Amino acid sequence: MSQQPTSTGERPASHLFYQSRMRRPLADRAEGIYIWDEHGRKVIDGSSGAMVVNIGHSNRNVLEAMKRQMDKATFAYRLHFENQPAEDLARRLSGYMPEGLDRVFFVSGGSEAVESCLKLARQWALATDQPERWKVISRFPSYHGSTLGALAVTGYDALKKPFLPMLRDMPHIKAPTAYLDRDNFSLEERGVRYADLLEEKILEEGPGSVLAFIMEPIGGASTGALVAPDSYYPRIREICDKYGILLIHDEVMSGAGRTGRYLGGDHWNCRPDIIALSKGLGAGYCPLGAMIAHSRLVKPVLDRGGFAHGYTYAGNPLACAAGLAVLDEIERQDLLGNATRIGDLLRSELEGLAERYPFIGDVRGKGLLLAAEFVSDRETMAPLPKALEAHQRVVDIAYERGLIIYSRRTRGGVEGDHFLVCPPMITTEEQVGEIVTILDATLA
Ligand code: PMP
Repeated sequence: MSQQPTSTGERPASHLFYQSRMRRPLADRAEGIYIWDEHGRKVIDGSSGAMVVNIGHSNRNVLEAMKRQMDKATFAYRLHFENQPAEDLARRLSGYMPEGLDRVFFVSGGSEAVESCLKLARQWALATDQPERWKVISRFPSYHGSTLGALAVTGYDALKKPFLPMLRDMPHIKAPTAYLDRDNFSLEERGVRYADLLEEKILEEGPGSVLAFIMEPIGGASTGALVAPDSYYPRIREICDKYGILLIHDEVMSGAGRTGRYLGGDHWNCRPDIIALSKGLGAGYCPLGAMIAHSRLVKPVLDRGGFAHGYTYAGNPLACAAGLAVLDEIERQDLLGNATRIGDLLRSELEGLAERYPFIGDVRGKGLLLAAEFVSDRETMAPLPKALEAHQRVVDIAYERGLIIYSRRTRGGVEGDHFLVCPPMITTEEQVGEIVTILDATLA
């Protein structure tokens, strides 16, 4: 391997490539909520990677469970063998799902999970003699993944632009950014009005052509932990039922416990037809994701020749053993309870910072899926000037001070800045203090 001098001075040129040329530190070791780089510098993983490492790094029980599985079998191809860890994980997961969602299809990541939801929905339409239904409505802004299908339903211009036209670009409705509205409606009225945008869009597209509506019950990176008014959720279900449209919940970021309930939608007793899960399911120990569907959808698809879809690494015994051990840790340590308790504490600390820093316009989220949005004026909620690149600067300064946070442009990749603070669910009160001290210095 070549060992050429590099622009960073110390590290050889890399044969890897990512989104940009920017080089990042080498991760050397990780434990609990901390990561050490190759120089031994310790930083707080304040975003759990990308809201992945929900139970913290290097959990001994998970590593032991994985070692035990590795000694038995790491891989058995799903078309040749079933495996016990996959069976067990599917059964355990079903126990966390709304009634009727008991058919689990494993994949290896979030985009694959969303892609699977879209394809199952389409096959369901064909199997139930509704071939004209193909459109999937989603929200703007939103993020649902990087594969072309998942990207087609993503409402985020900057991510789609390099690949336009999409295979088949899908219709969006405005995400319920009720915190931005300046009108005389109550929050509950706004929730219904935002949901009604779905009905308007269905009518505009032609009800017979619409297959599904996909949304994150609690927004992730694209919107910054966006929570809709309570009235939004039941109204969305009502509209989907009225037009025979499937409701897909993308729980890739909000699921697996981070919000204090196993599913983000559990805060409103949501009843979606299909759920995409990933990130916290394997929690960084193995690539793992799942689509969980209502048996009512799966039956006609299997009756009509089967689900024509799958991924080679899907549901391998090692990933599923890791997923089982992660679930054990969530239950053993009551991490849902901790996410609620520590999330409430962190949220009130963020609200305290918002009182002192007038450029924080909104603090939002649930449990440990929390975000703060920057504005230039709290009354109008006008964004900061784009050229300030505030979302990137806050990440850079925090990192210099030893804290990783996660940020994006807020309003569809076009303007606005928010950052997410989403440490692992094992975070202690004392560690919240460490995080807030660094954030305070960063914002100052
Ligand atoms: N959906 C949501 C809501 C996500 O946050 C992400 C990842 N950030 C994805 C889908 C795609 O997941 P992955 O990167 O694992 O493919």
